[in-house]
Amino acid sequence: MKERDKRRVGEQIEPGGRPKAPGRLELLQRFINSYNHDFPREWDRIGTAERAQAWLQEKRLVATGDRISAADAARLRDLREAIRALAIANQGGRPGGARTDVIRKASRAAQLSVAIDDTGRTALEPTRSGVDGAVATLLGILHEAQLTGHWSRMKGCRKCGYAFFDRSKNRSAAWCAMSICGNRTKNRAYYRRRRPAAR
Ligand SMILES: [Zn+2]
Repeated sequence: MKERDKRRVGEQIEPGGRPKAPGRLELLQRFINSYNHDFPREWDRIGTAERAQAWLQEKRLVATGDRISAADAARLRDLREAIRALAIANQGGRPGGARTDVIRKASRAAQLSVAIDDTGRTALEPTRSGVDGAVATLLGILHEAQLTGHWSRMKGCRKCGYAFFDRSKNRSAAWCAMSICGNRTKNRAYYRRRRPAAR
């Protein structure tokens, strides 16, 4: 993959040409994929206060006038990695207490209320603006996806942690389909065959 294309992975490009997650879950998927460990640190779309603010505004997670501090951006990055751990756990396993603690802590400051429109249709809406509101929206999406069952198909690549939506019938997809992860996976399978006791 060319560097120009790599920089678009997670937004315009999905590895392997997979469709993005359905409905609002796509936004949470983009949040998790605002960075990938295989790419340079400076490509992190929420790596600084300025970049996080631009990204959140583009996604309408915050209002145009909302200011994001460096601490806010750091908090968002911690949350992103915690939610990534949940997606990786969808491969089988548990996300780990430290990760769920991060989400628990985030949810205390990021509250949601049940809104209702004139037709009687309800929706979870953040009660605060700014970064707390953005976090609340993202956690609301996570909760909705768990209710619809879509969340169990949102998987973190076993190798690079990239979040992809597994549409396969038997839910067997294990890696993100970036060519680099495919090769690594094959190498690991080879290694496993030779060393069955390893890991
Ligand atoms: Zn991968």
